[in-house]
Amino acid sequence: MIGAHVSLVKKGRNYLGLCPFHKEKTPSFNVNREKGFYKCFGCGRSGDTIKFMQEYLHLDFLEAVVQLASRLNIHIPDEQNDDPNGEHARRDAALQALKAAVQYFQTVLDSSDGAPARNFFAARGFSTETIKEFQLGAAPATWDSLYQHLTANGFTLDQLNDAGLIVQRDDGSVYDRFRGRAMFPLHDHQGRTVGFSARQLVADPNSPKFVNSPQSVVFDKSRVLYGLDLARREIADVRMALLVEGQADVVSMHQAGFKNTVATSGTSLTVEHLGLLKRYADTVTLVYDADEAGQKAMTRAIELGVSTGLNIRCAVLPAGEDPDSVIRSKGAQAIATALDNATSWLEFQVDRYRKSGALEQPSGQSAAVRTMLGWIKSVPDVIQQPFLVRELSQLFDIDEELLLRQLSTTNKAQTPSHSEPSTRTETAQPQQQPPSAGTATRHLPRIHPAEREILRVALTVENGLTDIQYVFRLDASQFITDIARTIFNAIIVGAEEHPDLLHFLQNDAGLDIPAQAIVADILTSAVSPSTQWHRFEVDLPAFETHRLISNAVDQLKRFKLDAEIHGIKKQLSSTPDFDDQRKLLHRLDAILQERSALLQRIEHHSQQHSWPDVDSV
Ligand code: ATP
Ligand code: MN
Repeated sequence: MIGAHVSLVKKGRNYLGLCPFHKEKTPSFNVNREKGFYKCFGCGRSGDTIKFMQEYLHLDFLEAVVQLASRLNIHIPDEQNDDPNGEHARRDAALQALKAAVQYFQTVLDSSDGAPARNFFAARGFSTETIKEFQLGAAPATWDSLYQHLTANGFTLDQLNDAGLIVQRDDGSVYDRFRGRAMFPLHDHQGRTVGFSARQLVADPNSPKFVNSPQSVVFDKSRVLYGLDLARREIADVRMALLVEGQADVVSMHQAGFKNTVATSGTSLTVEHLGLLKRYADTVTLVYDADEAGQKAMTRAIELGVSTGLNIRCAVLPAGEDPDSVIRSKGAQAIATALDNATSWLEFQVDRYRKSGALEQPSGQSAAVRTMLGWIKSVPDVIQQPFLVRELSQLFDIDEELLLRQLSTTNKAQTPSHSEPSTRTETAQPQQQPPSAGTATRHLPRIHPAEREILRVALTVENGLTDIQYVFRLDASQFITDIARTIFNAIIVGAEEHPDLLHFLQNDAGLDIPAQAIVADILTSAVSPSTQWHRFEVDLPAFETHRLISNAVDQLKRFKLDAEIHGIKKQLSSTPDFDDQRKLLHRLDAILQERSALLQRIEHHSQQHSWPDVDSV
């Protein structure tokens, strides 16, 4: 298998060749055919056949398994070829519609209707080539120009709906989702347009600054990174990605020569995003806005990032600036300087604590140290942990041995969140607690979004809890994390016996601080303008509530299946025996079938209702 990609010479029991992962003149790349294992003594890369395919061919795990299985003549269902319900054709039509929309918005940009967007791009200093490279465009300030144009070109209402390009009113009438905006097409990593992010051109507090495509048969925002299609070659070359917050930042950075820049789009960073980057990069440097929101987001990104095994670095920009504005006011050199001065995530975080005043008291110091130890503990590569501990000991001037002992006793029961520094301002508090280490949820935030969604419905939607319990027959055992289970049980108790549920949860339910924080967070974001949850609050029609719940339940199932797939992967890599591997692959086959049935159901749902989203009408 590996021999198909690297020329190998038999040397004793092993095979030897030039390492495909680093430049070398004398071979140090060893392959053990019996064990299906490779190791390079030059650069240290090692792994099993699947890992090789992932790294060498830039495949994700499933893609690698499918390729490997086909070599072993094991049939793994391929959604696209089997296509029992015409899903592939449906997705294809949506992609065609999106492609046609890109061309339309580009044409509009060059017409008189495009003047406001042209001025906007010009004010940003985007060149004609850049505008072309990113396929930027303009949506005219009319109600249904795109709809008219695309239907005239043969696209059906359903197809435009699938593509997320139109919105249908209750009375059946239709209008364009994107109107009077600068259009940033979003691409998947193969460069196909899967959606749009559309920026306001005239400041208007009554409409959102950005309107994004809804989740759809082709668009999953937690899996799309803006700019990745253009950046991935460069990222793979330097093994480093620059992560910024906004689309404008990506465009400016590329134009200024930083071609390994990407951003999330209309959503905060997820483990999926990081997984995508991990295919190409070892290091991710965060270049977020210098405002408080940006710095907080950076803390969150660190937390997620370190637990996925990426090396995270942090670049700090001049106060009040974002990468785009820095380039305009100070030039590309200022970015280069910020990147030169980028620090390790530990240093960044300690600095943030220091600035907040949290480190002025011993209690604050020890809490900060515990938090950092928790994060270090979440780093998957245990060999790295002592090095990080050394850095931490230097930053705090604390005995390294003491920290190492503490690290070995840091465990789930002692999550750092219990002991966050008592900061004067709220500023130094990490937004979320570090993931608990060593469990199946290790690579995820402490509570799965689907769990959060179920808790939210239980807390804020009329009859939500009743529906969850009696229509969907969900009980605490079906949750993934302990914390969600605890909160759910407390809600059940509270709902039955206490007229003031919220008061009960905050005071009498015996919830610990992290659990209370999650409840508070769910309730505050329920009214946050950035998510527009309030649109759904309290009085949803039953079918709407049911959709929300069933969606979340599906996501829970999906998580559990994915966890199982990962478990099998682990076993596969530690199983030298061919027959055992075959058995594992057969089991994988069954799980993958279940997963693909589930995904079809999820897609079917998202056709009727996308997860509530910032974009909404
Ligand atoms: P600009 O510099 O043009 O004002 P920006 O890209 O710097 O825009 P920010 O306000 O810093 O925008 O937001 C960063 C990113 O967050 C945006 O690019 C967008 O992806 C997302 N975003 C911001 N506001 C919203 C919103 N109201 N709805 C959805 N996504 C948003
Ligand atoms: Mn900006």
